[in-house]
Amino acid sequence: MIVVIKNDAPQEKVDELKQMLEGYGVTLNLSVGTHSTVIGLLGDTSAIDADLIAAQDIVEAVKRVQEPYKKANRKFHPENTVINIKPGVDIGGKSLAVIAGPCSVESEEQIIEVAKRVKAAGANFLRGGAFKPRTSPYSFQGLKAEGLELLKIARRETGLPIVTEIMSVEHLPLFEDVDIIQVGARNMQNFEMLKELGKIDKPILLKRGLANTIEELLMSAEYIMSGGNENVILCERGIRTFETYTRNTLDISAVPVLKRLSHLPVIVDPSHAGGLPWLVEPLTKAAIAVGADGVMIEVHNNPKKALSDGAQSLTPDQFDNVMKMVKKYAAIGDRTI
Ligand code: PEP
Ligand code: MN
Repeated sequence: MIVVIKNDAPQEKVDELKQMLEGYGVTLNLSVGTHSTVIGLLGDTSAIDADLIAAQDIVEAVKRVQEPYKKANRKFHPENTVINIKPGVDIGGKSLAVIAGPCSVESEEQIIEVAKRVKAAGANFLRGGAFKPRTSPYSFQGLKAEGLELLKIARRETGLPIVTEIMSVEHLPLFEDVDIIQVGARNMQNFEMLKELGKIDKPILLKRGLANTIEELLMSAEYIMSGGNENVILCERGIRTFETYTRNTLDISAVPVLKRLSHLPVIVDPSHAGGLPWLVEPLTKAAIAVGADGVMIEVHNNPKKALSDGAQSLTPDQFDNVMKMVKKYAAIGDRTI
């Protein structure tokens, strides 16, 4: 971190500031020029409040030269993280994860039918929401614990590992036998929940918040990782912009940016990003082309009758077509599904 001192700062104020900075346990490197004085802070500055320093009278500017996240930072972990989900199934590295399934688990028949179809098409994970974060309290809220049981039945039938969203830390015991716990966009900054998820060792799929920056997403990953759980998968699912044609705006550049800043696997959710079934294929193509470690796609056996997100869900036949393209792209990139 670099602190630029104002020209006319009296010496005793500079000394006071130096004392304040030394209180953070960092080493100071002072360079006094004819026009300004610059203090370099050496050491761990991640816990320092840069805004508090900038608010001091004699401070002209403060600049962070190091990111405030450590565990998630590629600088301290240059190799890509590969998360092993079960023998022979990884997320990250050469693997291309295809997580597919309905927005919500609705019934045993529905989840088993969709699971069988997405498996036959080549998906390697089954998704399905049991606890649903809905904008309206009058909308379907999910089958909750029963939904989790139905997912497990679908896993037994197909062998596909299951991915499902947690909405409250109180429900954590119910998720013991889930393969990947999803933290949805609306809970990306539920810090108390992130801390609890840091205490377990189950992989966490962390979705980017609707209006959160890339750095905020990485700081949320840091919450989980600093608790000891380093099995975090990041997910770009579109952000809020002024554009209304699509449900959200897929921030495709977030993928290479996240891969540059962090060693964690990054996947893309083209269903929630575009909100339109026909956009799933081109956005999936883009995601693979820019280096995503996988995609998460909503598939429903009867989208018109879906209890949530039917408007963006693919039919199993449409998913079959998307998978043909995914397999072609995976082969070009020497990726395994
Ligand atoms: C979902 O995956 O169904 C979901 C609710 O996603 P998001 O949190 O990205 O809106
Ligand atoms: Mn959904």
